[in-house]
Amino acid sequence: MSEVLSIARASFAEKLSENNINLLRTKPKILQINVGKLCNLTCFHCHVNAGPKRKEIITRNTVDKILKWIEPTDIPVVDLTGGAPEMIPDFKYLVSSLKKQNNVRHIIDRCNLTILLDAEFCGLAEFLADNKIEIVASMPCYEPKSVNAQRGDGVFDSSIAALKLLNDLGYGKEEELPLNLVYNPVGTHLPPDQGELEKDYKDELIKHYDIIFNKLYTITNMPIARYLSYLKRNGQYEDYMNLLVDNFNPNAVEGLMCRDTISVSWKGEIFDCDFNQMLDMPMGGSKSRFLWDLDWISLEGKSINLENHCFGCTAGAGSSCSGSLS
Ligand code: SF4
Ligand code: SF4
Repeated sequence: MSEVLSIARASFAEKLSENNINLLRTKPKILQINVGKLCNLTCFHCHVNAGPKRKEIITRNTVDKILKWIEPTDIPVVDLTGGAPEMIPDFKYLVSSLKKQNNVRHIIDRCNLTILLDAEFCGLAEFLADNKIEIVASMPCYEPKSVNAQRGDGVFDSSIAALKLLNDLGYGKEEELPLNLVYNPVGTHLPPDQGELEKDYKDELIKHYDIIFNKLYTITNMPIARYLSYLKRNGQYEDYMNLLVDNFNPNAVEGLMCRDTISVSWKGEIFDCDFNQMLDMPMGGSKSRFLWDLDWISLEGKSINLENHCFGCTAGAGSSCSGSLS
C-alpha cells in the first residue's frame, strides 16, 4: 500500500465501485513521450523532479525505436513532455522525423517558455513554428509574484518575453500555430473554473503585455514527487488528500487521459500516464514493458493501473494534460 493510499479516506478503486464506474481504456489517440528529466527550472510543484542536474534523457537509439513503432499506427497525436523536452540533443531530430513520417500527425511540445530564450537553444521558437508544433506552455499566473514563487526568480519576465516572441511568430494568431497556457494552483487548493480564469488571463495579458493565446488549461497539482515533499514539509499532505477525495467528481472519469493515452518514458517503458510513469507503476492492461513490444490496437477495453493519486484527476472539474474534464 502506497503512502498516498494509506492517508486517503477512501481508495480510488472503492470510489469508482461506489459509483458503479468501470474505468477501461479506449482506442489510443495520444502517444505522450517523456523524453527525460533534464530541465532548466526546478519548479516546486514538479511531478517529474526535473532540474538542470538530471542526467536521465532519451538516447538516439530509443528515439529511433519509438519512431519505428509509431510509423505504421494511426495514432493522431504525439505529445512531447519532460523535463524541458527541447533540451534533449535529439529534440529537433525527433520532431523532424515525426513530420517526415506523417505530416498529418499532430505534435505538441510542452514548453516551459524560458527555454526559448536560452542562448544555447537559439532559433528554437522559429523551429517550432516552421514545423507547426502546438505549444502548451506553463504559466501558473498572470502576475509575477506567484509565477516566481512557484518556478523561480525571474521566470515571469522570461515567460512574458517568450510569449511575445511566440506571438511575433504567429503563435496564438494563426490556426496552425496554437498557443495554449497551463495554470496550476500555487497553493493547496483546486483550480478555479477554467472558462472564467481563461477570460481573466486573456484580459490581463492583453492589457498589460499585449499578449494573446488560444486556450487556458487548468491542471490540479498531483500529490507525488516534489509536490508531495512540499506538502509534507508544510504539514499539508493529509488535508490536501482529503480535499481531493472529498471533491471526487464521477463525471470527470469519462475524460481521464489514461483512457486514450500511451505514456512512454525516456527508456521506452510504457505507462498509463505520466504520473504513473513517475511512480513506476507499469501499464495496467498490457504485459509488455516496452513500447516496441506493445500491440496498441489490443489496448481498447483493457484495465488501467490506478492508485490514490488518481483522485488528483477526478477532483472538482477534473484534470488532465488538456485541462479540466467536466
Ligand atoms: S514543472 Fe516543468 S518547467 Fe518546472 S521543473 Fe518540472 S519539467 Fe521543468
Ligand atoms: S493519475 Fe493517471 S491513471 Fe490515475 S486517473 Fe490520472 S491519468 Fe488516470
